[in-house]
Amino acid sequence: MKRILLVILVLILALTCFACKKDGPKDCNYNEYIMDINLQDDNLLCKQNFIFVNTLKEDLEELKFHLYPNAFREDVANKAYKSNLSQYGGLEITASKLNGKDINYTLSQDKDIMSVKIPKAKLNEKLELYLEYTVKLPACNLRLGKHNDMINCGNFYPSLAYYDNDKWREDGYTTVGDPFMSATANYKVTINAPADMVIACTGDIVNTAIENDRKIVSVNAEGVRDFAMVMSKKFQVMTKMVNNTTVYYYYFNDSDPASSLSVAANALKVFSDCFGKYPYKSYRVAETSFAYGGMEYPMLVYINSNASDKADVIIHETAHQWWSVLVGNDSINEGYIDEGLATFSASYYYLLCGDENRFNQDMKKRSDSFKNFINSKKAAQPDYCPKMNKALKDYDQNEYSAICYDMSCAMFKNMYDMMGKKKFEKGLRLFFEDNKYKIATGSDLHVAFTKAAGKDMGKLFNSWTLGTVQTFAA
Ligand SMILES: [Zn+2]
Repeated sequence: MKRILLVILVLILALTCFACKKDGPKDCNYNEYIMDINLQDDNLLCKQNFIFVNTLKEDLEELKFHLYPNAFREDVANKAYKSNLSQYGGLEITASKLNGKDINYTLSQDKDIMSVKIPKAKLNEKLELYLEYTVKLPACNLRLGKHNDMINCGNFYPSLAYYDNDKWREDGYTTVGDPFMSATANYKVTINAPADMVIACTGDIVNTAIENDRKIVSVNAEGVRDFAMVMSKKFQVMTKMVNNTTVYYYYFNDSDPASSLSVAANALKVFSDCFGKYPYKSYRVAETSFAYGGMEYPMLVYINSNASDKADVIIHETAHQWWSVLVGNDSINEGYIDEGLATFSASYYYLLCGDENRFNQDMKKRSDSFKNFINSKKAAQPDYCPKMNKALKDYDQNEYSAICYDMSCAMFKNMYDMMGKKKFEKGLRLFFEDNKYKIATGSDLHVAFTKAAGKDMGKLFNSWTLGTVQTFAA
């Protein structure tokens, strides 16, 4: 009897260890956000229990959070918008508790960073920070905002800052690039909205109920570095299965939604086969009112409903599920990694589907566009050097697009030409496998490609990132 008990115990232990394995979407060491979101007119009334596991350092004394909605306030230094808004946004905290007891916090000048002093936390100690807050939705077609019956909810909740080199990263909002960086976490979210609202969000929807003209949606997302939603009463939805993933397309302005859905599903399959498996059970593509082509979030992408070529945007944003979502990077200082890889991958998709002409045309377009940029830049400033690892705040929109999209894409094309298809794809697969759920750096890219090539690729990468590569010399 004792022996049977022992066997059962060992089995339970083994199963527990398996459930907590570090490299899957599920990880018991990930922080957890348990959120209750109630949409009331232009406000999100939220309750958030953040369960933090200290894996950072012994005697940690402070937690810091980004309050990105405060970049949509009027008169802030780091604005999320370029021109005045008819209604500004913001996030106001109304209650805060640490392990059940009221706790004070401080806010930065722009109110975009919240700091909470904690009693020294030991390694692996668990803390619970409970917050109540209201997010006022700005009137705009940006990552967060209400516009033409569409509600975009990206970067709307207090999210833990990234802890890097013994300090919290406090990068402010920029209108150029994606000024975000976060560690992978688990999310359990309940959304309460009007009954006729259709909700596209990160995660798997586990339950939907209607109570008193309200829709209550329960969502689980495991092993994701962010949570976002797009809501609209105008949405129609189509779905398609690919591998073990259900692909959802939320649309209201698409004359051929079946074809857009097919592109999304095919891109998910083609990229899974080439880079490594998409690990989640859901992927949602949502058309929305958006100032740019699209925006990537874990398991959810925004697609501008007026994009001239929707398929292109869908493929690019889908590629971001690998580059930015699963393999994270410091997109404030090394935005070229995810944007260059997503841009290259979106064209590489055509090659993988057998359309080599389209791939070559795309590559020529990117390199011509970069050459034009360089020529006009050098005409005004002969010693100009196109550096790829500059901080977002040091780029203007034009330079950022030319360098982090076109030039970085040309860099990957150069790697492809130098290494050949087989070794190049091995490099991408190694980069994905070794860095998924983590934050990768430029050096991790060099390591993966050097391993795949069987010779040092770091020098070639560096000549690109430092802008000294001869390919584009005048
Ligand atoms: Zn992109």
